[in-house]
Amino acid sequence: TLEPLISDFYGFEAQLRDHEKAALAALRADLEQHIKPIVNDAWDKAEFPRQIIDVLHQHPTFGELWDETKTGDYSALYGGWTALELARIDASVATYVGVQNGLAMGSVGVCGSPEQRAEWLPKLRSGEVIGAFGLTEPLSGSDSAQGLRTTATPDGDDWVLNGQKRWIGNATFSDITIIWAKSTEDGQVKGFIVPTDTPGYVATKIERKQALRIVQNADITLTDVRVPNSLKLTNAESFKNTAGVLRLTRAEVAWAAVGTAIGAYEAAVAYTKERHQFGKPIAHHQLVQDLLARCLGKITASIALCVRVSQMLDNGEQRDEHASMAKAFATTSMREVVALCREVLGGNGIVLDYDVARFFADAEALYSYEGTREMNSLIVGRAITGVSAFV
Ligand code: FAD
Repeated sequence: TLEPLISDFYGFEAQLRDHEKAALAALRADLEQHIKPIVNDAWDKAEFPRQIIDVLHQHPTFGELWDETKTGDYSALYGGWTALELARIDASVATYVGVQNGLAMGSVGVCGSPEQRAEWLPKLRSGEVIGAFGLTEPLSGSDSAQGLRTTATPDGDDWVLNGQKRWIGNATFSDITIIWAKSTEDGQVKGFIVPTDTPGYVATKIERKQALRIVQNADITLTDVRVPNSLKLTNAESFKNTAGVLRLTRAEVAWAAVGTAIGAYEAAVAYTKERHQFGKPIAHHQLVQDLLARCLGKITASIALCVRVSQMLDNGEQRDEHASMAKAFATTSMREVVALCREVLGGNGIVLDYDVARFFADAEALYSYEGTREMNSLIVGRAITGVSAFV
């Protein structure tokens, strides 16, 4: 059975169906037992333990959107709660899933031909193949719709890729990376499934990161990387198709942001009952209660937004601006919550062993990736005014 979270104040989880609640309870139990005990150490060492992959791929956490890989009748709402549950334990763990399930499988699911989907989705679902998603470049982040410099040149039955990518999650150990590149033929962005052992493909770990230290990010260089036309994603013909993948994943990041806030909040609540000052637990002090109440208000508002955005996806009503508003709002609220929680812990709020420091640092990465707050605001602003203010 699924125990209610103290942080789900209005009981939104009750909206899941019984089999979804059971699946979520099983995931939570495994995360608590196998992943929670190892994350602070892994964060400290900036290592990604293989155990994370082994545990996660046993659950209906990957590929439930696609006919080729679905294991049951799981809604987008369930997918959202999964992202929350993962991030509640650790935001890097949620990010690993966001890349594998959302960005890599999403690219194949949204843009792949039936043959490509049949070949790659099951392997990605099982974890036999690890995927990554290479869009961002050293000189192109927010402007990647227009600013990509990586090129794809047709040559007989092949394409030849040249350029650089930056920040690519899971790419230090991925077996394939989806590379987005501008065709030298029509100037449009295309997507390619690039096996990472292809000559000319080199991925280098980004060191000394101070957020999401468990998940691994890489700089990639592509020097005359030759891929057959069969590995060009058939339906990735322009950036509009790339945006179709990001629309799916952005709402999941909003959910992960709520999970990150909740991870910090639950640690802070527990701390207020154990830590004594002025002769009683700090939970007895009015101003401490005020900090917790402010956190819970922000968390509750974010959950409400996320629940609705997932229901809209389930109903086929979700548009870019809906996912963008949820991402911008939930990540902003998360940033405020983790700061308040850090305050609740006093000095211990900056020590890894008390968990809050990890959520506090990791929040910064979620705030910026998958579209910064400004970019997501501009997507909402475009919907409000009918005017695109990007350029
Ligand atoms: P910039 O685009 O340089 O932006 C810098 C600042 O300028 C921001 O505040 C931005 O909002 C602001 N700005 C820019 N243009 C405007 C404008 N027109 N109006 C107002 N403000 C503006 N990418 C991938 O492809 N694959 C991945 O797996 C991946 N994983 C990531 C993991 C981590 C931990 C991080 C940090 C990043 C990851 N990214 C990944 C890249 C991520 O999506 C980018 O960092 C993000 O899109 C922002 O780009 P940037 O960092 O280049 O910032």
